[in-house]
Order: sequence, then C-alpha cells, then structure tokens
Amino acid sequence: MILLIVCIKYKPAYEVTLAGEILGYVKDKNYIETKLNKFINDTNNNIAFREISENPVYALKFINKDKKTEEKSVMLAIENATTTTYRNFAVTADGEQKAVVHSETEAEDIINQIKEGLDGTVDLKLGITEIYTTNDETVSEAEAMNTLNELKTVKVAAYQEEKAQKEKEEKRKAAAAKAKSFATTTTVAASGSISGISLAIPVNGTISSRFGVRSSSRSSAHTGLDIAASAGTGVRAIAPGTITYAGYKGSYGNLVIVSHGNGIESYYAHCSAIYVSVGQNIDSNTTISAVGSTGNSTGPHLHLEIRVNGTPVNPQDYLY
Ligand SMILES: [Zn+2]
Repeated sequence: MILLIVCIKYKPAYEVTLAGEILGYVKDKNYIETKLNKFINDTNNNIAFREISENPVYALKFINKDKKTEEKSVMLAIENATTTTYRNFAVTADGEQKAVVHSETEAEDIINQIKEGLDGTVDLKLGITEIYTTNDETVSEAEAMNTLNELKTVKVAAYQEEKAQKEKEEKRKAAAAKAKSFATTTTVAASGSISGISLAIPVNGTISSRFGVRSSSRSSAHTGLDIAASAGTGVRAIAPGTITYAGYKGSYGNLVIVSHGNGIESYYAHCSAIYVSVGQNIDSNTTISAVGSTGNSTGPHLHLEIRVNGTPVNPQDYLY
C-alpha cells in the first residue's frame, strides 16, 4: 500500500551534490557523467585541459512526480565548477611578453612581419613562448601586430637617435682632432721642422701671398710663400746647408738656393742683394741676401720656396 502511494505520488531521481552543495535533480546520472567527460576532454582551439576538483556525488531519491528534473542547470553548475587551462603563445620582445595569441603560426607570422625592415642593427630580440594560463588572455593577430609595431617604432627611433648621437660625437671628435692639428701647425709660428731638420723663419714680415694661389701675374699656382718686408731687410736660411745657386734667374730675379740634404732645398727669390756664393756652407744665422723686388715682382718681398726632391711644398706646412 505504502509502495503504491509512493509510486503514484513520487518518482525516482538523482540528487546531484558537488562539494557539499546540492545542485539539483536529474533523471539519469550517466547522462550527466557523459556530458561532463565530453566537456572535460574538449581540447578544441587553445584549450589545453579542463579539470574538476571534486566529482559530483549522486544520490537516488524520490521526488514529487510533478517536479521537473534540472539537467540543464545542473550541468551548467558543474561546468562552472571546472577550471580551464589555455595553451597560448606569447610573442616576446627582449624577453618580455608583449602579446598573447592563440596559435604558434600567428606568433610566427607576427615575428616575420615585425622583422621586416629591421636590418639586424636594431637591438630587438623577438621570440615565442608557449604559455599555460587559466584566463584566456589572447588578443587578435591584428591587435598583437599593432602592439609589436608600436614597440618596433620606439626601438627604431631609439636606435636612430643613438646612431645620430654617435655620428655627432664622431664628427665632434674629428673636428676637435682637426682643430688640434691645426693648432699644432699654427703654434710653430716661428719655427718648425721638415724630415727632422729644424727650421727657422727667414725674415720677419707679413705673408702677402700663400702657396698654391693663382693670380694674373703668374702662369701657374704659386710655388712658394711671399713674405713682404722692407727692401734691404736681411734674409737668413731656414736651416743650415750648402749654397747651390746664387745669382739672377729669370722671374725669380736674384735667387739663392740652399741644399739642406735629404732632398730638401730652399729658394730665396726677388733679392736686392746676394751675400753668399755657391759651395758655401751656411747656418741659419748667416744673412744670405736682402729683401728686394727683382724678377717678376710688384714690390719688395721674399719669395720662399721649399722643395722636397724637386717638388715645391707648402712652407706653411712647416713654418708659420
Ligand atoms: Zn712668390
């Protein structure tokens, strides 16, 4: 009798409990178990795995016949109690994760695109790290590209700035070195040396024409240095040597040539008087001639020429 009443008024159902909490009633526990297994083993896309900390507990009960079983809500509650771990790929730059994408292919694609236009001099080390997280923090490939592109822009700008600074510094150093060497030549105002031979200035005066300049009064570039001084001013040799020429010579006018050895000669032209003769050994204190304006000359000056193995060189490279 009691059994009959039970059968009329009640129906069997499984009470589902998870971690001590009753989730509801289901008709068939196998239905829930099958669904749960399917859910747990669903490793589509970037899902690495799913776990449930405790398994549901089923208890056979009799519930009111009119009461509907709750498969949907029970299943949803179970699903919500699971933890999903995602397997994603982080694009790293200089060891730091910059953007997370679903697949390795996407990450590789991003890296290849970012690498384009980087000539290897920009210090940006790109890499891929496989990461497992319980939050799916991925972004779209386009979004990741944007992030990496921004970083690239910053890096390239920094590199260019650094490069420009380096070039600026090199230019500054070169200019400083040049200024130094210029300072070195100008400080030997009164004396210098050539091939180890000490040189002295031949006459006090004003430089009126430099080596190498061209003018209407000459057929070619100036082969010496003109030092304007009063006519009659004594001229000394720039270094000790032997007189190899002492006399008039065309456009040079009165000319003295001194040989200093090692192929080095000095010429003193346009002189008003000559005080030495060929073969004479002189030192740099000997007055060899006097300033004049003989030959191709427009006013009293000494034309000083220094020759190395017969070729005129700029006296100002060694003197003044
Ligand atoms: Zn001259």
